[in-house]
Amino acid sequence: MHLNDTPDQAAYRAAARAWLSANAELRRDGDDLAGFRALPDAEKLPRARAWQAKKAAEGYAAIMMAPALGGAGGTPIQHIIYRQEEARYRVPFGVYEIGLGMCLPTIASLAPTLAQRYVPPGIRGEEVWCQLFSEPSAGSDLAALQTRARREGDHWIVNGQKIWTSGAHFSDYGILLARTDPNAPKHAGLTMFVVDMKAPGISVRPLRQMSGERDFNEVFFDNVTILDSHRVTAPGAGWQGALTTLMFERMNVGADIGLIDWRAAARYARERKADDAVTRAKVADWYIESQGVNLFAYRTLTALSGGETPGPEQSIGKLVTARQAQDVAQFLLDALAEDGALCEEHHGEMWAAVERAWCWGAGMRIAGGGDEILRNVIAERVLHLPGEPRTDKGPRLKAREQI
Ligand SMILES: Cc1cc2nc3c(=O)[nH]c(=O)nc-3n(C[C@H](O)[C@H](O)[C@H](O)COP(=O)(O)OP(=O)(O)OC[C@H]3O[C@@H](n4cnc5c(N)ncnc54)[C@H](O)[C@@H]3O)c2cc1C
Repeated sequence: MHLNDTPDQAAYRAAARAWLSANAELRRDGDDLAGFRALPDAEKLPRARAWQAKKAAEGYAAIMMAPALGGAGGTPIQHIIYRQEEARYRVPFGVYEIGLGMCLPTIASLAPTLAQRYVPPGIRGEEVWCQLFSEPSAGSDLAALQTRARREGDHWIVNGQKIWTSGAHFSDYGILLARTDPNAPKHAGLTMFVVDMKAPGISVRPLRQMSGERDFNEVFFDNVTILDSHRVTAPGAGWQGALTTLMFERMNVGADIGLIDWRAAARYARERKADDAVTRAKVADWYIESQGVNLFAYRTLTALSGGETPGPEQSIGKLVTARQAQDVAQFLLDALAEDGALCEEHHGEMWAAVERAWCWGAGMRIAGGGDEILRNVIAERVLHLPGEPRTDKGPRLKAREQI
């Protein structure tokens, strides 16, 4: 494992750091970074768009994307170095990550004609994207999804419902996974499309979270027309498309989940001279976990330098950091005793981040694969332990056969 950058990597990191320090403010450990998501759309979207355009002009918006599509044509390692550096700054967060991290790379690798149209404006921040995968009965078991797309000549008619679609209420386009062959085995009957979120028949209903924000949505499809030219995968190859999206999601190595940093809790404990055994043990645990995550990132960078691509082992990052954010927030709220029930304004700036981390921590342990699913992935695909029994790989049963 290499613990130091090569000279080229160090030069790239120094240039990224210099540009970031000239254009953004350094993050402090108590910052409410995720609070940016809570701003009203009218304030949040223009700020996010301006930051995105600035990054695009400097070649930091889509580092790995081909120059022909508006990207920087850089390496995965440069992408990760930039993410690591950007995580140290207070920058707009929560608008473009899904599009640039998952939707557009998926389209670029599977549908070159669509990529020509959609990738360049997406990189410049002119269009926002969402991911329409999960449904009320298909989250961890995504391949069970039921939204139907039926072919009629040169187009498809879509009916069904998606849920938990982050940013659907301000998105221009989405990648949609729909069932196109209800008789095929469940992983084989899916197809991926690009959908215009303003198309007739689409309604978006925001869901209010316990934090009070409205970040994700239910999306209903009522006889929505999608041209066949907007199909991303071959009919029936949607599952392979979804795995491609997952592969790009894994490139989020070094990305920050935007919630409270454990150092804020350590600082608070130090200021309060709280050196009881429980506090000391907690701070030590967080330190060890964060060192583990950092060393793991070095290991990934080393593997990438050797031409490998990130695999299922990347599941460990979110598994550790999301639970840790929740634990840190709980620790700080407990430290306030009954005052912990009071709202953020009462306690000052850092406490907004604490409250948000407490509310968001639970969601982050579910988004992008719940803790249990990630543990299964690590157990089966990294440690090669025996797999869970699976009874759902064969042909789908029609409803009347199930009764
Ligand atoms: C903040 C947030 C943002 C999201 N954004 C998007 C988005 O933009 N687009 C999108 O498509 N989806 C999005 N999602 C949905 C997310 O992908 C799903 O919530 C997730 O896959 C879990 O699915 P589920 O909610 O249906 O829970 P379920 O699959 O019903 O799981 C419920 C619980 O059971 C556990 N469980 C399930 N199966 C097993 C098993 N085999 N073994 C052990 N335990 C199991 C799970 O880990 C979980 O704890 C988002 C979710 C959140 C919280």
